Amino acid sequence: MSQAVEPSPQCPPEHLVRSGLRKDDPRDQLLLAPQRRPVYILLQDHDRAERLAQQLEFFGLGVQALPTADAFRASVGECPPSAVIMDVDFNGVGQGLALAAEVQARQAKPLPLLFFSHHETDTPTRLAAVRAGGRDFLTGTLEASSLLEKVERLTDAAPYDPLRVLIIDDSRTQALFTERVLAGAGMITRSLTDPIATMAELADFQPDLIILDLYMPACTGPELAKVIRHNDRYVSVPIIYLSAEDDLDKQLEAMSEGGDDFLTKPFRSRHLITTVRNRAARARHLKARMVRDSLTGLYNHTHILQLLEDCSFRARREQQPLSFAMLDIDRFKKINDRHGHPMGDRVIKSLALFLKQRLRKTDFIGRYGGEEFAIVMPNTALEAAYKVLDDIRGRFAEILYPAQPHDLRCTFSAGVVQLDDGLDALTMASAADEALYRAKHAGRNCVVRVEP
Ligand code: GH3
Ligand code: MG
Ligand code: MG
Repeated sequence: MSQAVEPSPQCPPEHLVRSGLRKDDPRDQLLLAPQRRPVYILLQDHDRAERLAQQLEFFGLGVQALPTADAFRASVGECPPSAVIMDVDFNGVGQGLALAAEVQARQAKPLPLLFFSHHETDTPTRLAAVRAGGRDFLTGTLEASSLLEKVERLTDAAPYDPLRVLIIDDSRTQALFTERVLAGAGMITRSLTDPIATMAELADFQPDLIILDLYMPACTGPELAKVIRHNDRYVSVPIIYLSAEDDLDKQLEAMSEGGDDFLTKPFRSRHLITTVRNRAARARHLKARMVRDSLTGLYNHTHILQLLEDCSFRARREQQPLSFAMLDIDRFKKINDRHGHPMGDRVIKSLALFLKQRLRKTDFIGRYGGEEFAIVMPNTALEAAYKVLDDIRGRFAEILYPAQPHDLRCTFSAGVVQLDDGLDALTMASAADEALYRAKHAGRNCVVRVEP
């Protein structure tokens, strides 16, 4: 993953300290997001840059405000940044642009550059920014949470995640052959010769696409396709039949029973690869939109509960702990009432970002409802989950949101539970909800854990 870079030994150690990781607490270190490379910020108004850096650090971004061109040159050499925010007029009109272009020209790998101008700019300036490798251009007033969003987008390029294909065929030879072709094209494959095991395999493997044999002893492909489609979760997973059947009528009949395409054996490898790749990629794209909440980009209510179910299934099988938390912003109605709905939305978004940055990549974060969030933490026992959440709670409460007439602070309460024998996903969710309710009654801005 692009961000999981080991802190380079040349990076200033101060940076590690300021990032918020408590070095003396290995468990915390283990559970919080991995250290990321720094973001450099260079503004005409250095004090402003310092303040922004401080605010962004609350979100777990290691940000350094650099005062001079030389400091910038030296820092880039010592510790390559994950992003640079450069004022086009840093050090004089147009000088920031020139400095960025100069440093950029020396890089083997382009610097992720974000330009800023306090004023609206003309096309030549924007063109120069593009030529210097600028990925984005911000104008107006720089504000921590929107800046954070841009930096996120710049540094969080979707990690490479290969397509996953499940092959169901009673002939092991055929299945292995198909697997080999697809694996050769960089996909992750699994094959199943016993169609009866399909549903368990789907839940465990979560394929982007299924390749199905038409005739198998236990059941036919179209019968199995119907069973798969009966489950809402798999309604949109593409199913491709692969068979020697060359009777067009039979092919069409099979397709009408929940299939999406039909390939006849023998097939050309490239044909198979292209068909699978196109369909799987589009399905994944659609699914990504279906399971996400549009305001925050977190998983939506339905999906986070499904993830909780999947994870509790896996945790039981692998005998690993699993924790689940519910968060709710305190007195959120007041924020809306006093500062308007857009401000409320901004707080929701910033908590979403805060959680994304503070939790592990393997944790799942969902927006459960309006100002409620749910977190699934695999391989995490109750005490560790509590510690992490309480740490996040404390840090989130320190964030100042610029507002009139006073800047505002905001807190959340949380309830956390651990998976226990006999607890299913729904019971676990309502236990977490109850713990959250207790946290509210205990005066808010706290985390309540329920012992398993
Ligand atoms: P408590 O500390 O008990 O949680 O108090 P609260 O005010 O946060 O709780 P309550 O559930 O009464 O109010 C939640 C408010 O959140 C009500 C609703 O108007 C607001 N809300 C829900 N969804 C959104 C949203 O997407 N954006 C904004 N801005 N407000 C929302
Ligand atoms: Mg609330
Ligand atoms: Mg609420």
